[in-house]
This record gives sequence, structure tokens and C-alpha cells, in this order.
Amino acid sequence: MKTLLWLQGLTCNGNTQSILNAENPSFYELFSKIELLYHPSLSVDNNLMEIVEKIESNKINLTFLVVEGSITNDKKFHNVGGFSIGEIVGRVVHKADYIIAVGNCASFGNIPALYKENPDIKGLQFTFKEKNGFLPPDFLSKKEYPVINITGCPIHPAWFTHTLMALYYEKPVLLDSFNRPKEVYMYLTHDGCIRNEYFEWKEEIEEFGHKEGCLFYNLGCKGPITHAPCNKILWNRVSSKTRAGMPCLGCTEFDFPLNENFFETKKNMGIPEKVPIGVSKRAYITITGIAKTLKNERTSKKLEETD
Ligand code: SF4
Repeated sequence: MKTLLWLQGLTCNGNTQSILNAENPSFYELFSKIELLYHPSLSVDNNLMEIVEKIESNKINLTFLVVEGSITNDKKFHNVGGFSIGEIVGRVVHKADYIIAVGNCASFGNIPALYKENPDIKGLQFTFKEKNGFLPPDFLSKKEYPVINITGCPIHPAWFTHTLMALYYEKPVLLDSFNRPKEVYMYLTHDGCIRNEYFEWKEEIEEFGHKEGCLFYNLGCKGPITHAPCNKILWNRVSSKTRAGMPCLGCTEFDFPLNENFFETKKNMGIPEKVPIGVSKRAYITITGIAKTLKNERTSKKLEETD
């Protein structure tokens, strides 16, 4: 039977909470196929170091090493049985067929890596956009994959379970330049947002609480610059931030916590500092300029007033 060891470094546990909500396969279906060797929050036995020793001595084959949370060697921040998360990862990392980082902390270091007094806090293979994480940049697991990053703060459970199942059935998983599965992260949050029509017609809202209007120009929405299928694979099968009227915060990207004000669009002379991916500033100005001179009867009315 294939095995999975889940480790936690510096984390809020949010990705674990997310995985518990997995559907098709559910958490229980998943772990009837795969033996869960240990999970810090879910295992009854407090036997992590015993399992680590068995993996080290090849008494247990490790198929999937899953890491949640940033990595450090500093025991002041993380200490299990006298070992830091860095030491524990270091003992098993060469034994795993596949290594998966779940969430932005394990992928990029994220909020814990902003702690300036300890430059030793990192992601597994990246620290923010640099490939200088805990493991060397050219590190490959036994099946010759780098650390597969499932980014997000937290991740949607399906992003993890679909990737895990593809690897389980030994299907190839193509990765982008941040080692994220392309099947999941080739989409933008903007793709599928129900406010797209307002974006196209430059109908921008200036305050929260409206069903109508796009949140890009005034309220900091990062949907057009964020790789995530939040509007394709809906949360709890129901909704997404932008559908509910909340701007996308860009939490799947390396610079997520570095953004200073999540609810404001930074502009220079009225032009957003960051325009949609793939569009030049010149093209953005031209297209929005044309859209503003035209009127769409439908998008200029309250939704309840349209037929
Ligand atoms: S609210 Fe955000 S994701 Fe939705 S259409 Fe506007 S920019 Fe795109």
C-alpha cells in the first residue's frame, strides 16, 4: 500500500482544516487507498520519531511526504522530541517518491518567513520568489520531481487531492515555473468570475456590498494577476471570494503577504501598477478607454432591475 507522512512546520493548520473538507475523494476515501503514517493533528499515537526511524532504515517505504508550514532549523520555533522541523524533514526527504508542499508557508515561506530576526525560516524549495528554500534548487525526489507546490493560504482541498490522485496513478504532472501543477494553476482567479462582464465594460465599484461591479480598479482585486482556479473549482462547491464581493488577495502567489494593503489598487496617474497578466499597460489603457466611452445597458443597471 502507498504511504503518506504529513509533517507540520510553522503553520496555522489551515491546510489541514481544508483537507478535512475534501470531497470526491473525501478525506476518508483518500486514506482508505493510502496509508496515513502520521499526521500531527490527526494521529492518535504520538509516534512520529519512531516512524521517521523506520523510514530512514527502509523498514517503511515512503510514497508521499507532505509538508505544511514553513521550515526552520531553530528549535525555539519548532521542537518535536528534540528535533526541529528542518531536522525531521532532512531525515526523510531522500526517502520519498514524491514531496508535496501544501500551502504558501511550505511553498514560499509566507508570513513566518517575514520574521526578520530569523532569516532561517524558509519554504521547502523557494523563499518567496527565489529558489533558495530549505532544499537545494536542483533537489529532486526519488521519482524525479522537485517539491510540488500546492500554493494558497489556505489551499482548496481539491487542488491537493486531484494532484495526489494523479501521482497515485502515476500520471505525469506538469509543473509551472513555481513548481505548481499546471492543471490547477494555469487558470487565473479572474477566469469564471461572475463579475467579468463588469470588468470588460469598466464598471468598477468603489465600496463593498454590491452584487454588481468589478473589484479590480478600486478595491484591490488581484484576480487578473493570480494563478488559481477559485472561480472554476468553487469553495464548498458554492462560491468564491470574488463571487461573494470580496477581492482576490492573490494568496496563491509568492508575494501574497508582501502586499501592503489588500483592499486598495495601487495606481500611478490613474493606471494600475499591475495590469492583467498577458496585457501591456498600453493595451489596458486603450481597451479601458474605449469601454468607458460606450455604455452597456445591462451592466449599468442593478441586477434585480434587469430582465
Ligand atoms: S472582481 Fe476580480 S476576478 Fe472578478 S472580474 Fe473583477 S477583477 Fe476579475
